Amino acid sequence: MKLGTYTFLPEKAEGFDFHLYRVKPEVGRRMPPQPDMYSNIAIFGDNVTARNHPDWISQSPLGPAWRTNNNFNVRWEVLCATQPEHRAEQLDYIEDVARHSQGVWLNSIHFAEHGHCICPRCKQLHAKSGLSWLEWRRKEITDYMKLVSERVRDRAKKKFVIGVLPDPVTSYERFGINFDDLAPLTDEFLVVMFSKNYATPWYFETLTRNFKKIFKDVPLNISLYVFGPGDNPHEVPTPMELMTVSVRMARAGVDNILYLAEKASQITDFQKAAVANTELQETLRDYGGKPVQEYLDRIKGWEKIVDSSNQL
Ligand SMILES: [Zn+2]
Repeated sequence: MKLGTYTFLPEKAEGFDFHLYRVKPEVGRRMPPQPDMYSNIAIFGDNVTARNHPDWISQSPLGPAWRTNNNFNVRWEVLCATQPEHRAEQLDYIEDVARHSQGVWLNSIHFAEHGHCICPRCKQLHAKSGLSWLEWRRKEITDYMKLVSERVRDRAKKKFVIGVLPDPVTSYERFGINFDDLAPLTDEFLVVMFSKNYATPWYFETLTRNFKKIFKDVPLNISLYVFGPGDNPHEVPTPMELMTVSVRMARAGVDNILYLAEKASQITDFQKAAVANTELQETLRDYGGKPVQEYLDRIKGWEKIVDSSNQL
């Protein structure tokens, strides 16, 4: 096993075997590649290009992939994955960066999320392909990665690594990624795991999607610990976290949610806090379609119960 660093600045900490430098992160800023470091490039997550070409943004039934669209896990602007000018420009750019560094590690190689992209060009490409919607998306990503792989490995003769998001089961439905297609095109894979404060609900949502796919038509129940027996009060989830995670699971298709605690009063405490946090309820309203609205309506419905328990 080797140990590496992954940095936003072209600086090498001592005691590591290799160094990966974020030459073009998702914010779209481009920095000169370093000859003795690997280069990390995000392709379709690109705030700068989105600002210059707002019409290139990825489209979906739940709105475009601006980072302000809470229906999706987008933390930056995501471009349509079939935009031909961006694709061509990135191919040349990636090859150039490969030639001037140790090799290229990619991020953001895929469609923004489930339901993307339905721009007129994508609709037309899909219709022309004769493939199912999901298979067409897969082909678009695989074919483009073939071109990128050829530029880095065959032409620049450098190491090539494809980065994917931490979703082993439903990356196909969400992003158009088929790992078996990509395996022969890449030297290694990188799985980008998120920091705790950044997107822990990501994992709850992803596990929900994964189990829904595996269980097929059998309903999925998920239980969340509100307060386990003997739990340290400082280590139990906050009501805010429970609500956010519940909403993320709702939009991913969970059928039922159970709240686990030792005593009913601990659950009532959670209900009181949930009802009181109207600000978070409002924020979560645009986190998804009907299932999310239904969940938030249930929280609203707790108002009466909480009121009557206050009177006792
Ligand atoms: Zn499109």
